[in-house]
Amino acid sequence: MLPRFCRPAQFAPFQGMGRLEHRWLNMKTDEPLIVARELSRVYRMGGAEVVGVDSISLDILAGELVVLKGNSGSGKSTLLALLAGLDQPTHGQLQVAGHDLRQATPAQLTRYRRQVVGMVFQSFNLLPTLTVLENVALPALLAGRSYPSVQHSARELLGWLGLDARHDHLPSQLSGGEMQRTAIARALINDPAIILADEPTGNLDTHNSHIVVELLVDLNRRQGRTVIIATHSSLADRHATVEIRLQDGAIVSKIPE
Ligand code: ADP
Ligand code: MG
Repeated sequence: MLPRFCRPAQFAPFQGMGRLEHRWLNMKTDEPLIVARELSRVYRMGGAEVVGVDSISLDILAGELVVLKGNSGSGKSTLLALLAGLDQPTHGQLQVAGHDLRQATPAQLTRYRRQVVGMVFQSFNLLPTLTVLENVALPALLAGRSYPSVQHSARELLGWLGLDARHDHLPSQLSGGEMQRTAIARALINDPAIILADEPTGNLDTHNSHIVVELLVDLNRRQGRTVIIATHSSLADRHATVEIRLQDGAIVSKIPE
């Protein structure tokens, strides 16, 4: 819980997608949402091999809040990129929400990336020439939704995130905290079951880090989305239902086992 002074009133329960609020809460949780078996990603650099993820076997149930820990280079970003369908495993199996990501065609992977997962990055990755509203709307337009409906959802999300006055601004005109909240809105626009956040507070001050972690926790607790956060920070630790520690691409601990 944030101290009262840094808990803006705008983070009231999100009403915008009210009818969807419990959709993820009601997902069956006895079947794992994410199943990895001996999952590896080996990078080939000329003649050399670099192991990004090393034979990870893992089950994650729907509705978990996972924190992914480990030193720099331990494989956190590689694992998240595999889960996001942004990268392909070189060995092993990976199934997420019923999608076999190893067997998926490029078109299936594109659909998966747009509709099943939402990603949040350390460096925000907003498109610099698009406004805040356009950045948030883009994934929904690419998914084929009509502009009026997308604009309505984007405005609601931005309102919830306290960015009402920022619709027409460019990313360069925002603070880091505002950029990350815009990126969270973009991650949510297609209502994904899973949010993957790669060092989401890495470029933020303490105040904004608290806000961003609180939001990610809210997406899990109140909306029932599965949230995986790779982070060096301990801010999310007490909210985590699972803590996974990586070293050299492998899991060295998982709590609870
Ligand atoms: P973390 O996010 O925990 O810092 P990464 O997943 O970025 O770790 O990296 C894991 C390992 O994979 C590191 O040794 C890193 O150098 C290597 N690696 C990551 N991405 C690439 C890439 N595109 N090409 C080659 N090696 C990579
Ligand atoms: Mg990383």
